[in-house]
Amino acid sequence: MNKKQLREYEQIAQRLGLAADPETGVIHGAKDGYAVLLYAPNAKAPRVLQILLAAKREQPLSADEKKTLRANCKAVTALNQRGNLLAASLRGGSLDKTIAAAAEGLDAVVDLARRSGFAACCPRCGREEPAAACDLGGNYTLLCDDCFAAAGQAAETKLQEKNARRENVVGGIVGALLGSLVGGISIIVLSRLGYVAVLSGILMGVCTTKGYELLAGKMSKKGAAISLVVMLLMTWFADRLDWAIVIASELGVGLFESYQAIGQLLALGAIDSGTYYGNLAMVYVFMLVGAIPMLWSALRSSKVAARVCRLGDSNSSAAQL
Ligand SMILES: [Zn+2]
Repeated sequence: MNKKQLREYEQIAQRLGLAADPETGVIHGAKDGYAVLLYAPNAKAPRVLQILLAAKREQPLSADEKKTLRANCKAVTALNQRGNLLAASLRGGSLDKTIAAAAEGLDAVVDLARRSGFAACCPRCGREEPAAACDLGGNYTLLCDDCFAAAGQAAETKLQEKNARRENVVGGIVGALLGSLVGGISIIVLSRLGYVAVLSGILMGVCTTKGYELLAGKMSKKGAAISLVVMLLMTWFADRLDWAIVIASELGVGLFESYQAIGQLLALGAIDSGTYYGNLAMVYVFMLVGAIPMLWSALRSSKVAARVCRLGDSNSSAAQL
């Protein structure tokens, strides 16, 4: 969570009389006796918030009730009941509009719950126990103490297993080589078909990094470096082989001899070095275009530190992994 975004959530929380979690910015607390939580389900739209309110009623929320609330409160774009949770999506916009929508939406949802006979409860077990916000490895929900103890345990075990998964470097190298082979073949085949280097470069980048990640089990900085070296070498090799095929067919000599002759032909000027290196540089550029987003997202997702804890509970027993 970046500082600017967190400050926004703190402002919203303050206006609502709730608290913002300093790690995730998730806004949580109690309103009129109901446990509530506000968060942005889509990190790319941080001002489009959703309200979760823990409550139950014998009769599920009716379509009329949903419609009436939406008609009376323009801040709410959708209202649904998921088990013992009322979920309301809010309109986003400028910070001021987002704050206003959060205040208006929360009042409307709490008001509806109170007037329509919804009883505060734990969403998971349904008992009328006080529920509070928690972070189960990136899933935000409201749980009573017993449910948190059980669900938290399970989520933590899962998280630990995921983190304990070792990076198999040897497997990763094999994966990167296999992936780069696909990229290398595509460089040759696409070049034979007369296509420019764009697609084969991107394929090289994507296949090599994906190959590493698949067989290594996860991607790390080391994996990124290995993938990059494999890509650079394989692209060099495939590009030379591509030239060797041209030379072999032009001169009617063997592929192996042609491959070996490239250095000499370049030195003699029989192959225009501008064309040769220009083409190679282009493949490299597009290879990076394909590889960088893959490496970036792989490294980012391995860096996200998930945790299992109660929000706003600084001395929780939960491990921060
Ligand atoms: Zn419970």
